[in-house]
Amino acid sequence: MLPYRYDPGALGAQEVEIAISHCGICHSDLHLISNDWGISQYPFIPGHEVIGTVAGTGSDVKTLKKGQRVGLGWQSNSCGECEWCIQGLENLCATAEGTCVHRNGGYADRVRANARFVIPIPETLESERAAPLLCGGITVYNPLRNRGVNPAMRVGVVGIGGLGHLAIQFARAFGAEVTAYSTSAGKEEEVRALGAHRFVNTRESKAMKEVAGTQDFILTTVNADQDWGAFMQTLRPTGTLCFVGVPPSPVTFHAFPLISGLRAITGSPIGSPSRIREMLDVAARHGVQATTEPFPMAKANEAIEKVKKSKVRYRAVLAN
Ligand code: NAP
Ligand code: ZN
Repeated sequence: MLPYRYDPGALGAQEVEIAISHCGICHSDLHLISNDWGISQYPFIPGHEVIGTVAGTGSDVKTLKKGQRVGLGWQSNSCGECEWCIQGLENLCATAEGTCVHRNGGYADRVRANARFVIPIPETLESERAAPLLCGGITVYNPLRNRGVNPAMRVGVVGIGGLGHLAIQFARAFGAEVTAYSTSAGKEEEVRALGAHRFVNTRESKAMKEVAGTQDFILTTVNADQDWGAFMQTLRPTGTLCFVGVPPSPVTFHAFPLISGLRAITGSPIGSPSRIREMLDVAARHGVQATTEPFPMAKANEAIEKVKKSKVRYRAVLAN
């Protein structure tokens, strides 16, 4: 990445301009930098875990005030009119706009978004530790919440990075028994301190066999190909394997475990603005926050390299 200047033009009537104080580095930024999904457009400014203050509001924006601390996640706009937007499921809108997909993102001084997607941050949340909640946090909170995770359930989290370490904390807040599945034996102590009851090293096939048939809901945050059949085997009957991480190859399964145990495979995209508000409130009241490694904005390249090597514990956050 290189320094880049652009003129954003006049502020739209429904837009807000945010003066950025912090921006988390989500692995989706790395996918976009290398155009893994074929949707990147260059010059490209990554960044979609923003916290900052309102620097300007369009003429129609009545709910946000200059100087107010706000956050912005993956989504910056939606049509506001389709059946999904009307139901408050704006994250399912077919014309949803990503904050850094064909728009200028948050590794920057300023960023703009439609006011509906600019969310006030509860006072007790610290900006550096809350920025990763805006994408990583909502992405794991939403499927746990939609599935009705509760104290009777056993929840597995696969891949303990930015998303995974937040998923452990939210699953605990929902009262579940939590198992962390990781390729990094060195993370065990920290992962238990985050709230996991059990740690399974997925590189050990014996450890995986021992947990066969134990999980009600498995959330996978891994951005790499895995033996997905082995995770299917760890589900109890009626259990669900839910993808939020994006593996590079198509995911394949035998049909039998699905049929015989009434098991399901699903996926989940971020969450709506109202769910983000709820998630931030839950995080504030239940003490869920990211474990962060700060970098000055000017060292974004260094931070990206560290994320690429899976060396960050657990979220790199850029600061202006
Ligand atoms: P991250 O911080 O880099 O964490 C990914 C974790 O996956 C790593 O910490 C590692 O955990 C595990 N992992 C990495 N390489 C692996 C490999 N070769 N084999 C097995 N495990 C490996 O990434 P993130 O920011 O959490 O994002 C994860 C994924 O979620 C990305 O694909 C991202 O695009 C996607 N995402 C999706 C949504 C959505 O709406 N669905 C939103 C945000 C992000 P261990 O060391 O514990 O094994
Ligand atoms: Zn993200």
